[in-house]
Parts: sequence; C-alpha cells; structure tokens
Amino acid sequence: MRYICVMIRKIRWVILLMSVCVAGILALQFHFAQSGFRIERGLFGKQANEAFAAAFDSVVNQRDEKILDDFRKLISDTSFVRITSRINRIYGTTVFTIAEVRPPFKGQSRLSMSIETFSEQVEPITPEARQVFIGHLVNTARNDLKNGYVFYYTQKLGDSLSKAKYDVPIDTSAIRKSYVRELSRAGLPTRFNLSFRPISEQFSTNPINLSLKTNKPEKVLFASFDDPGLYIFNRLKWVLAGSFLLFIVTVFCFGYTLKVLLSQQKLAAAKDDFINNMTHELHTPLASLTVTAESLKKFAHDDQSRDSYIDIILHQTKRLGNLTSEILETARSGSVAGPWRAFKVGNMVESVISHFPASDIDFQDSIGDLTITGNENDLKRALANIVGNAIKYNDRPEARIGISLKVTTGNLMIGISDNGPGIPDSEKIRIFDAFYRIGKGDRHDVKGYGLGLYFVRRVVAYHGGKIAVKDNSGPGATFILIFPL
Ligand code: ADP
Repeated sequence: MRYICVMIRKIRWVILLMSVCVAGILALQFHFAQSGFRIERGLFGKQANEAFAAAFDSVVNQRDEKILDDFRKLISDTSFVRITSRINRIYGTTVFTIAEVRPPFKGQSRLSMSIETFSEQVEPITPEARQVFIGHLVNTARNDLKNGYVFYYTQKLGDSLSKAKYDVPIDTSAIRKSYVRELSRAGLPTRFNLSFRPISEQFSTNPINLSLKTNKPEKVLFASFDDPGLYIFNRLKWVLAGSFLLFIVTVFCFGYTLKVLLSQQKLAAAKDDFINNMTHELHTPLASLTVTAESLKKFAHDDQSRDSYIDIILHQTKRLGNLTSEILETARSGSVAGPWRAFKVGNMVESVISHFPASDIDFQDSIGDLTITGNENDLKRALANIVGNAIKYNDRPEARIGISLKVTTGNLMIGISDNGPGIPDSEKIRIFDAFYRIGKGDRHDVKGYGLGLYFVRRVVAYHGGKIAVKDNSGPGATFILIFPL
C-alpha cells in the first residue's frame, strides 16, 4: 500500500490533470444533456400547442360545416324562403332575391344580390340558377363564419345561423378526440387532461378560446400533460446513452492509463533494484577474476599458489555461471515447455527436503499417497526456493521449518512455516515481484537476486494455484500454496 502511495505521489500531477479532464468532460456532458433537455422541452411545448390549436380548428370547422348543412336545408326550403331572379336592364346582370315566406314583424326579411361569376340572364329563375344561388349563399356564409361573424341576410336566416354558431357550446369531447389524433400524428404522448384552468406542476398548453361570440377569452380550455419529462427522456435516450458510454470509455481509459503508468513506474523501480543488485553481484566475481588472472600473468608462481589462483578463477566462474542460469531459468519459468505427469505429492516434498539439513525441517504428511499432475521439476524447484529462503533468511541459532500437506474442499494446501524474521505486512505482496528484495542496499549478507519467489508465483499460477504469505503463529512467516485438485 505504502509502495502504491509513493508511486501515486510521483505521478500526482498527471493524475490531477487527468482527473480535471474527466471531471470537465463529465461537466460538459451534463451541461449538454441539460440544454438538450431544455430544447426538447421547448420543442415539445411548441408542438403540443400547435397540435392543440389545430385540433380546435378542426372541431370548429366540422361544426361550421354542420351549421352550413342546416343552413343549406333552410334556404332550400320553399316554405321558409322564396328565391326569385330578375334581369337588371342597366347592367345586364341577373339579380337574385331571397325573401322570407312568413317574415316576422320587424327586421329585414329579404335580400337581393347578383353573383359576379354568374353571367347568364335568368328571369324567371330556373332550378339550375336557384342551385347556383344557394351554393353561392352557403359559400358566402362559410367565409363569414370563418372570419368570425354571422351575416344577417334576412332576420330569420341570421337568427338561425347565430343561434347555431353561438348558443350551442363547443363539444369538449370532440376536442379531446381531435387532439388525440393530432398528437399521435405529431408523435407526441396522448395522455393529457382538459381543464378550464392550467394544472399546476404539469405542463399546460396555451389556452384556446371557447367563447365564440367574443374575442375576449371568457371561457378558455387548457390541455395538461402529466409527465412530458419521460417522453423527452425517451427522445433523448440514445444521446444520453451515447454520452454515458463515452464517459465510461473515458474513465476506463483514464484507469487503464493510470495502471500502465504505475506499472511503468514499478518496472523502472524494479529495473533500478535489479541493476543495483546485479552491479554488486557481477562486480565482485569479475574484479576477483581480473585480479587473479593479472597476477597469474604478471608474476611467477609455484605450482601450489598457481593451483589456488586457478581455484579462485573456477569458483568465481561457477558463481557467474550460477547467476546466469538462475536469471535464464527464471525467464523461462512457468513456460509450458516442461512435461506434465502424475506424481505423489509426499514423494516430491521428501525429495526437496533431502537437499537440506534434515534436522531443520519437520514434515507432516497427512495426505498419504495423494497423486497430482503437473511439472514435478518446476514444483520441486519452487518448493526448494521457499524452503531455501526459510533457511537462508533465518537469523536464529536454531532454524525450525515446518512443512504440512492438507486436502480441504477440493484443494491441496502446502504450508511452509519458519521461525525467522517474518515478512512485514507492507512487503507481503511485493516479495513476489521480479527482482524485489526486502531491505536491499543495506543487507548484502544474504545473497539473492529477488527472483526466487517470482519464479514460485509463476509456477504456482501455471498450475492453476495461488500463493500467499502470512505471519506464523509464533515468530516467522508461513507460505501457503493452494492447488485445485
Ligand atoms: P532472493 O533471491 O532475494 O531470496 P526471493 O524472491 O526468493 O529473492 O525473495 C524475495 C525477498 O523476500 C527476499 O529478499 C527476502 O527479503 C524475503 N523473504 C523471502 N522468504 C523469506 C522468509 N522465509 N523470511 C523472511 N524473508 C523472506
């Protein structure tokens, strides 16, 4: 943990800048999402208002057509009005007259007019000319209604039109139906409430004026929507999902870059450790070799001293050879090259122990003849590394090493405990890193390259197992290797 903190401190500026970038991207995306929401809400309001006005217009138009149908029937009724025509001798046009059959006492009861587009001269009126006149009158009344007024052609006709237009209230259920149609045509939600007041906490449309007689909005109608937010969210969902995805990708890249940076730092630190260690390990035998070889060359030696010089050379060469092979072996460790075969775990442990002073090691074989499959040689070397460490780092006059084998819930557990100095908690993970040594630099009394436990971890992982280290119940450390059976 402390180690990670140190690394993080080293690249804190990069982390800070990257965090600011990610926060900035998040803030911008939030801002865009918010303004997108606002724009969509405005658009929804506009479309809902337009649809409401269109729905109302369509209801009023239908209603007007119905009024005009009745009007046509009325002016076609000869017991109600009489339609005649005569020729205007000055202009040469046909003048039509519509007159009530039973006029009331007061008010206008007849009206004469000519039709601009009617060029024939008809007197008396023919059925065709009568139909033309009726059609013209209905069209004129249609335009009047559209323009918002009722023209009194005659008193009774005016009264009946006005009654139909102003005294019969507009049917709100027809508005509802028409609005549903308009909303679905515009692709808007069709759940709304009609009310004569806007409903608070809901989105309400602009009002439509139901009081037809006057322009003053004496009676108005609103449409209110429960939750346009959901509809807007639905419209924006892909944009929101896209920006969320982008954000996740950015955070992932940020995390990944951080991981790479940290591992680079770790690698650089491991490389420094390795070079420091190797410089020492290589310099000593090389310096000794150089001095010995020079002395052999420069001075005359008797046989005995020459042999001892050659022994020195051989010893140092062997040391260099061991170092080289240890590095090479570690580089290939855990590879699939080694043959796998079945072997008895107990025998494998016995064979490892036989290379160490027997008095130091206490082996509890409680699994009998258990056989496993794997690369026996690699596993032997891994075990030997742990046992070797337990002896080599032990600073007590009497080293005590215990090896135990156990089978629990489908796993084989190999435990190796010692009564040595133990391993501090902060180092328990790092000791498995390549070239890592505890207390290196000021402790050259115990030789090593920091590769042993790295090798062990790779071999164990290659066999599908796990390795951990914990404090021994007394002093020292316990390494636990777990393999699935
Ligand atoms: P080395 O070649 O340095 O022994 P290892 O990878 O085998 O490399 O071990 C890494 C470090 O872990 C060692 O430098 C040592 O400090 C520590 N270590 C390993 N085993 C033990 C142990 N049994 N007791 C105390 N320290 C240990």
